[in-house]
Amino acid sequence: MGTTATAQRVLLVEGRSHRPALFTDPHHRCLGSHRGLPYSAVRDKKSVTRQTLDDLKQQIPLMGYLQAHDWHPARPLSRGRWMGLCPLHTDRKPSFLVDPNQNLFYCYGCGRGGDVIRFAELYHQVKFPQALALLRQWRGAEPLLQEVARFYGVQLHRHGEAVTYLYQRGVRSLELIEHMRIGYAPGGCLRGWLTQLGHSLPALRQAGLVTGVGYDAYVRRIVFPLESNLYGRSVSASAPPHRFLPGAKGGLYAWAQAQSYPEVILVEGLFDYAVLWQAGFHNVTCSLGTHLNARQFRQLCDAPRTVYLTFDADPHGSGQQAAQGLSQRLREQGIDTRLVSLPEGDDPNSFFVQGGNAQQFQSLLEAARP
Ligand SMILES: [Zn+2]
Repeated sequence: MGTTATAQRVLLVEGRSHRPALFTDPHHRCLGSHRGLPYSAVRDKKSVTRQTLDDLKQQIPLMGYLQAHDWHPARPLSRGRWMGLCPLHTDRKPSFLVDPNQNLFYCYGCGRGGDVIRFAELYHQVKFPQALALLRQWRGAEPLLQEVARFYGVQLHRHGEAVTYLYQRGVRSLELIEHMRIGYAPGGCLRGWLTQLGHSLPALRQAGLVTGVGYDAYVRRIVFPLESNLYGRSVSASAPPHRFLPGAKGGLYAWAQAQSYPEVILVEGLFDYAVLWQAGFHNVTCSLGTHLNARQFRQLCDAPRTVYLTFDADPHGSGQQAAQGLSQRLREQGIDTRLVSLPEGDDPNSFFVQGGNAQQFQSLLEAARP
């Protein structure tokens, strides 16, 4: 934390000013001086030239990267700049300034600012070389994962076992399948399809889509595209039920839609999310497990709201324990919480699959205790 050298050199003046608002140094601190010296990573034989970094920054506009990470511009300023809540600290009123023309940001709250690389460093809490690697990966993986999601989406309708499984888990509407972009990985066909499209085998391996020995990584799995990952649920009892591609699971599921509601329902799994959304609860989001990562926690705290914690009522009580711990942490941040009690042994998915309806679930929400 604290003010960095970059932040001190970055000066952005909001609104009217006698001087034209400017960033005094539009370059990343790691780029060396503005005399155009190339950046060389310390103790790293590979040298990253200014040109390489400029190219990367051009390929990943800051505004697009911010929005892909759930940042929302709250109000426009002059010269095309925007103000919004700071994604780097718990911000109550917008103090995060973005200049899409210069591809720079500055936060009046925490005093930090810079370019997209600096943002990636701060946001993911990594050092410069890791931030570069993450950005490159993000730039490369994005189109590939879109391609994979489309392919698996087509496969879903060709495989009866996938449709049957979805039906058993309460996924019954085409609208829901389209909303969640649910697909099916039968196995044994993704690699061939992608290499035919020109993707290299090493790239597919690196993304985790293909195993070391060259097989599709996901076999007989229902697939849900996430913002930069792919969750696969096995339809076969003989395989581990849950799988993700290497890398972070990302933020809260479909947060952009849920975050506008003053009351949000938080569930553990995507099949819980699915049945609630289908029943008309569009203020639902999912943390993909009971342990929230730092980003997911920040998202829940980004505005005043009430969070209905609806974790599994498993016999060991681990879901309820996790909910209580989370509830306490949220309350410390000023977020109102309610603990929703499902019938013993149920999760939201089984509640609906076993005949529960929207009205009954609504009663559970109303009965939820603080
Ligand atoms: Zn800030």
